[in-house]
Amino acid sequence: MTVTVSSLIEGQRVATGGGHLLPIADPATGEVTCELREADAGEVDRAVLSARAAFGNWSTMSTDRRNDILYAIDQRLRAHGDELAALEARTTGLPIAGVRPLIDRAGENFRRFAEVASTVAGETYLQNAQFLTYTTREPKGVAALIAPWNAPLALGSMRIATCIAFGNTCVLKPSEYTPESTLRMVEIMHEAGLPEGVVNVVNGRGSVTGEALTSHPDIDMIGFTGGTETGKRIMAAAGARLKPAIMELGGKSAAIVAPDADIERALDGTLLAIYASNGQQCLGGSRIIVHRSIADRFIAAFVERARKIRIGNPLDTATEMGPLAFAAHRDHVRGYLDVARSDGAEILCGGGIPAGFEQGWYMEPIVAMAPGNDARICQEEIFGPFATFLVYSELDEAIAIANQSDFGLVSYVWTRDLATAMTCSRKIRAGTIWINTPMMRELRAPFGGYRASGVGRDGAQHSADFFTEAKTTSIPLEDTAIRALGR
Ligand code: NAD
Repeated sequence: MTVTVSSLIEGQRVATGGGHLLPIADPATGEVTCELREADAGEVDRAVLSARAAFGNWSTMSTDRRNDILYAIDQRLRAHGDELAALEARTTGLPIAGVRPLIDRAGENFRRFAEVASTVAGETYLQNAQFLTYTTREPKGVAALIAPWNAPLALGSMRIATCIAFGNTCVLKPSEYTPESTLRMVEIMHEAGLPEGVVNVVNGRGSVTGEALTSHPDIDMIGFTGGTETGKRIMAAAGARLKPAIMELGGKSAAIVAPDADIERALDGTLLAIYASNGQQCLGGSRIIVHRSIADRFIAAFVERARKIRIGNPLDTATEMGPLAFAAHRDHVRGYLDVARSDGAEILCGGGIPAGFEQGWYMEPIVAMAPGNDARICQEEIFGPFATFLVYSELDEAIAIANQSDFGLVSYVWTRDLATAMTCSRKIRAGTIWINTPMMRELRAPFGGYRASGVGRDGAQHSADFFTEAKTTSIPLEDTAIRALGR
């Protein structure tokens, strides 16, 4: 049966309308299971009006009352965890075993940012003896939020939570490839008590619905998670209208494996960092830089494990890798096999269609040996299960390779030597450095990228700063002289 999805405005799914229809296929079978009715500029306008109308009450509600609602959303999302995880896995192709914890994380996003909101406080300045000067923080207004397809619930909930916890309202556009789970999540948020209009959802292509939303004159700010080129376009448009924008963009992250690393942990960690979520993650450790003395042994063991990754239906709890999200994306990832070969790289394994998985967009995980860090497979974001190896001799060389990239989102370091760890932490130019751990996300800490990986940071204080306006008030403590003009 084909489901039709469209927008959710003022707390209600929009049932009718004449928008363009887009077929959406199940990544595991290739069959069309969903039809997206695209929101045009008029529908986007209604969604923004709805968010603007809700802003009055939501922004002036006491933080405690707002937080009660955010805590209820956390509870309700967790209670619907199995349902949401199945929907997310089926529509994205992500293995359900990896998706299920992300639903609890989606709930946690609302709880964590509610906690942050309850600690927001101003400053007072009494250095000038005649005046009391203090600051307050006010919600900024209506946000346009844009999310990608690789983890719609984890990333969509992050965008929404950082925005509404500080009293703002929003219109979110999920990716046109994966619209279903976000709509259901926002519906559940309303069941938990979210007032109508605080969160609205519009669906459609970036060039139509996305542009109508980000260029809408009544939008006060933009929160974007997606590709670097799209981010540049949106930021240029935002700049022309002086709208602040936070950008979480692409990555080509390095994983350095030092000679003293715990090899088994480093293997587990580097495999997970590139192949989790079917390799479709911004923080994927796609460039693995191994010390020459252990390279042969490490790479051979990595290839052996990559070959054994269990490929299967995303709804099967034993599956470690599902299909890629859509046909064009699988073609894009496989296209890098030719790019690699023409650059002189050696494909060590993978890239084929796994036997028994000819339907849908499955592919075997790829391991390649790069001829050098200049190769396109080391410089371009492939965003799939494509691990690329490089070898180094001196730590400075490994760090230089890590930094020789347009991107700077995260970096992984595997070592038991404190000096190596601290040198990497200081010298690698990336927003997050993970030492002896893959993908530890501390929601209170800033997260974001250097260079082409982003502008701004999510995280407790950083989100509070972005999503509120700081206001300064000065009051004389006694009658102060005012220079009298025209008396
Ligand atoms: P994308 O840039 O193609 O699309 C992202 C979103 O932007 C989609 O909803 C799309 O419809 C919309 N969009 C496209 N053009 C637009 C326009 N002109 N105006 C407004 N909206 C527009 O990215 P994608 O392929 O969906 O996602 C993969 C990318 O996202 C990768 O580069 C990945 O690294 C990045 N990503 C980054 C993070 C992070 O936190 N840094 C997290 C996840 C994904």
